[in-house]
Amino acid sequence: MGAPEAFTAAFSSTTEVGHYIGGRAVASTSGRRQAVYNPSTGAVARQVALASIDEVGRAVDAARAAFPAWADTPPIRRARIMNKFLGLLNQHRDALAAMITAEHGKVFTDAQGEVTRGIDIVEFACGVPQLLKGDFTDQVSTGIDNWTLRQPLGVVAGVTPFNFPCMVPMWMYPVAIACGNTFVLKPSERDPSASILMAELFTQAGLPDGVFNVVQGDKVAVDALLTHTDVKALSFVGSTPIAQYIYETGAHHGKRVQALGGAKNHMVVMPDADIEQAVDALIGAAYGSAGERCMAISVAVLVGDVADKIVPKLAERAKSLKIKNGMELDAEMGPIVTRQALERIEGYIDTGVKEGATLVVDGRGHKVPGHENGFFTGGTLFDHVTPAMRIYKEEIFGPVLSCVRVPDLKEAVELVNAHEFGNGVACFTSDGNVAREFSRRIQVGMVGINVPIPVPMAWHGFGGWKKSLFGDMHAYGVEGVRFYTKQKSIMQRWPASISKGAEFVMPTAK
Ligand code: NAD
Repeated sequence: MGAPEAFTAAFSSTTEVGHYIGGRAVASTSGRRQAVYNPSTGAVARQVALASIDEVGRAVDAARAAFPAWADTPPIRRARIMNKFLGLLNQHRDALAAMITAEHGKVFTDAQGEVTRGIDIVEFACGVPQLLKGDFTDQVSTGIDNWTLRQPLGVVAGVTPFNFPCMVPMWMYPVAIACGNTFVLKPSERDPSASILMAELFTQAGLPDGVFNVVQGDKVAVDALLTHTDVKALSFVGSTPIAQYIYETGAHHGKRVQALGGAKNHMVVMPDADIEQAVDALIGAAYGSAGERCMAISVAVLVGDVADKIVPKLAERAKSLKIKNGMELDAEMGPIVTRQALERIEGYIDTGVKEGATLVVDGRGHKVPGHENGFFTGGTLFDHVTPAMRIYKEEIFGPVLSCVRVPDLKEAVELVNAHEFGNGVACFTSDGNVAREFSRRIQVGMVGINVPIPVPMAWHGFGGWKKSLFGDMHAYGVEGVRFYTKQKSIMQRWPASISKGAEFVMPTAK
């Protein structure tokens, strides 16, 4: 299906997006709902249900009922269903991408990329028999063997942000489900539709009813999951204040929690970097997806004499970004997700001006012909930003790039390390030793050398440091498998072993 047809097919309805419980779409009975917008036009496109505590309870009940049989299903059979799901996702990639563009606003080609990166995790989860293999030691003591295996936790939940409505849920549920858990997803209420199509495709692939459930909603639904005794673990991705709240509340209720938070990602440009490459990288990473990426670059750290060379080039490119409805295939940047988010971003630009930063390119009030009510802003570029300014310290989550000038690499590293966020960082250089020292010394979870957005592949795992992640384990990859399973150690002796009677000292190898 071509992009425009997929768009029409996926987004012609104005009805309510409901839940998916026990293998079927379920209309909400809560009586609470919220508007979902098409950010390109500014029009209300549909409604999303906001689940009641009872509705969340029903989803958890369905997941709890499905758990024993699913946990007992051999991993290879779980992997076969995952494989069918993989095929269906690939067939429906453009439909999912069109739903994302229609509700989030990001350009269609970027949405296709998001879906593809999510599908990578499903492909990784197809290898679950290998991932769940335990360790075995023959003869830990005479006549005794010891092995470890990993077993699923039970019902686990995921709460996800608006900015990757397909990929971020897919960081969680494919790995959790492949490991033998059952899952309840609470997607963002701003772009809920893709979650229901993913659930329908999983059922078509042969997933037993109740293994994957979706409840739409807001804080009421999230709190119901956080406090439910049958939910054993919760994965969260979103802003830092909510991540901290989720981590603390979930832990208080005895759950395993991983909560990924916000970001302020820096890109350091050294004087020996290829300037044209650095400009391309900064423009794509700062303004791609209108800066609404947790791995977007929002600070350019310009070392030595780089600033005078690079800022005019950045200005020229920021002014000429193709800002359009994301379904137009030559669009480089689409709208902001909601009017409130647009006002917050433009409010930060006002603040930056008041704080004394140099406004080189002003994106405020940008209008797109034919889309006058859309939530558009232009690309904004600030120079001479200092660490004391709010536009430097806080996450703006929009197409605003701040340039900070520093004299050398040491100050660049100190600046990045002093920031409260530590999600991603990049360094552009042609010096191998600088690259090595930078990678070793930087206090950030994901590092790119001459790569502006170093989002790790499916088998490596994703996670930041400091206030960008609360918890111990990264999302997906082997860390994901560990998060969604608990280790059991079994020590075994058979009767032919000679009994020496009860032993009262700590057993040691004999
Ligand atoms: P958000 O924190 O507003 O919402 C995330 C989820 O939490 C949503 O499902 C929402 O319904 C729920 N939620 C919101 N307020 C809540 C409350 N008071 N109590 C309980 N639940 C609540 O985030 P967002 O605006 O949807 O997403 C953007 C944020 O996510 C940015 O800060 C971005 O950096 C971050 N993010 C981080 C990563 C990462 O990997 N670290 C990835 C993507 C997005």
